Amino acid sequence: MARILFIQNLHPTEANAIRISRMAAEMLQKQGHEIFIKKFKPEETAYGIVYRLGMMEEIPDVVAKIGDIRDTTSAGYKQRVLRWIEEIKPDLAFDFHCTPDNRLSKVVFVEGAHPEMKIIDIPAVYKKLPEKLQGIMVSGIYRCRDSDLHTQYWTRTTDWQASKKIIGLNPKRIAGQIVQRIDRMIRASAPSPLPQASVLRKIMVRRAKIIK
Ligand SMILES: [Zn+2]
Repeated sequence: MARILFIQNLHPTEANAIRISRMAAEMLQKQGHEIFIKKFKPEETAYGIVYRLGMMEEIPDVVAKIGDIRDTTSAGYKQRVLRWIEEIKPDLAFDFHCTPDNRLSKVVFVEGAHPEMKIIDIPAVYKKLPEKLQGIMVSGIYRCRDSDLHTQYWTRTTDWQASKKIIGLNPKRIAGQIVQRIDRMIRASAPSPLPQASVLRKIMVRRAKIIK
């Protein structure tokens, strides 16, 4: 049985990914695998910090406070992921995300930031944040400019009901597809079983002939 690490919430706008990854985790646990779930806290991501400030304060006050949060983005992400991998020593690790590309009908596995980790992108419909927060989030993007930060992710958040209604997101089916893909990866990475005794004997006889 495999040790599997699930990473959640790097982008707090993608709550759909958390719900579906929990379902996949339960399915894998039932198959006897050990699942470890690690979740980024809001204060560990640039988005989370700006969002929280935005909920509490007015735009100029937020802008004044977000000058120093750049370091919490990509560099912090890699360190955190590597620490979790070191701590848990998983056979496989997956980082769960959503994608606004609603035309996708299947789960896409993209090579992750670490060779042992894969990113899972789940199709979702997004809704706009309240207007005041949108303004704050946009100024947040400019303050902590990073390749990972795009306007669409900062001003929107996944909509669970709309995802089900508009793109027919079937959470159980998607979780099932993820589990199938992970199953295949587990089987592919397992050492091949030893050949049967009869086959071994034949190989040894052949070798013996070659040596003669
Ligand atoms: Zn994401």
